[in-house]
Amino acid sequence: MNKKILVTQSSMPTLEEYVEEIKDLWETKWLTNYGNKQELLREKLCEYLKCPNIFLFVNGHMALYNAIKFFNLKGEVITTPFTFASTTHAIVQNGLKPVFCDIKKSDYTIDADKIEELITPNTSAIVAVHVYGNPCDVEKINEIAKKHNLVVIYDAAHAFGVKYKGKSILNYGDVSMLSFHATKVYNTIEGGACVYQEKNWEQRFIELSNFGITDYEKVESVGMNGKMNEFQAAMGLCNLKHIEEEIEKRKKVFMRYIENLKDIDGIKIPKIREDVELNYSYFPIVVEENYPLTRDELVKKLNEENIYPRKYFYPLVSDFDCYKNDYDSNETPIAKDIASRVMTLPLYANLELEDVDHICRVIKKYK
Ligand SMILES: *Cc1c(COP(=O)(O)O)cnc(C)c1O
Repeated sequence: MNKKILVTQSSMPTLEEYVEEIKDLWETKWLTNYGNKQELLREKLCEYLKCPNIFLFVNGHMALYNAIKFFNLKGEVITTPFTFASTTHAIVQNGLKPVFCDIKKSDYTIDADKIEELITPNTSAIVAVHVYGNPCDVEKINEIAKKHNLVVIYDAAHAFGVKYKGKSILNYGDVSMLSFHATKVYNTIEGGACVYQEKNWEQRFIELSNFGITDYEKVESVGMNGKMNEFQAAMGLCNLKHIEEEIEKRKKVFMRYIENLKDIDGIKIPKIREDVELNYSYFPIVVEENYPLTRDELVKKLNEENIYPRKYFYPLVSDFDCYKNDYDSNETPIAKDIASRVMTLPLYANLELEDVDHICRVIKKYK
């Protein structure tokens, strides 16, 4: 194949739509610092996501960093090593110690049955990830957190619009963080948010996202600059108008993969669950032992056909150069094994179904 198929492609409104949305910025000259567009976007996102409160940030990492900062935690945080660098970095940057818990084979989220054995007197929180948009075992995690008085923060970077038992997954835990990065299902170019239940938490989020400033002549804490600007919010307003159509198109691609790959022995595909409404953000496959090629060999074969999946998530965070001296990734054997076998296939709204068929033909060819 001549055209290059990358793992993702950013969703964008038409140029005209975006220009129309940003036009009044040349009149107001208000480009950032909690402008009208970000205010409107907050409202619209609460409505769409069916969440009571949302606070916008310049990117997802800043949202997650501040979600953790919000609670003034100390000590250890139980988390998953099967995630993007951001999750663990946000914990470490808050002066906390990540304690890695293994994941479930079925959906790659944290194994809630293994959390309690990792709890010590120093444990203050659980930071779990709805990885690939798969909901964590939120009920069990909630139970454990209540019993041990722990804060629960969800990295919901992959879970925009995901529903569990008919309810937004973002309404579980103390705070859920979203990423609106260009590569995610819904984007504001770069951007992110915290979803929370208590309306009066807003003041603290303003403080945390604006250098700890609480009044013109008052700075109460050592805060960051985490504000979303008006050009980002404008992109968000435009993209939100098309989100349902985008997710519907992604679903078609996702289902086409399932149709093509469901009978291939040795290729594990995502399971469709009755109680979960996915956003079809990723199509992870796991190359099992009885497939004739290894994951890396299959990636190479796909690359030769101009197809570029991603080894997402590999390596495991606990194997990163910056963490490997402090951790032994063999202590989370399932996560370690999955990281060595997983890849996410190209998936975006405008991916042609014929291209999906072609990608699947390459995968089937070796079986
Ligand atoms: C994308 C992502 C983030 C970070 O979001 P940014 O908006 O890129 O800062 C955090 N966690 C996970 C799991 C992600 O995929």
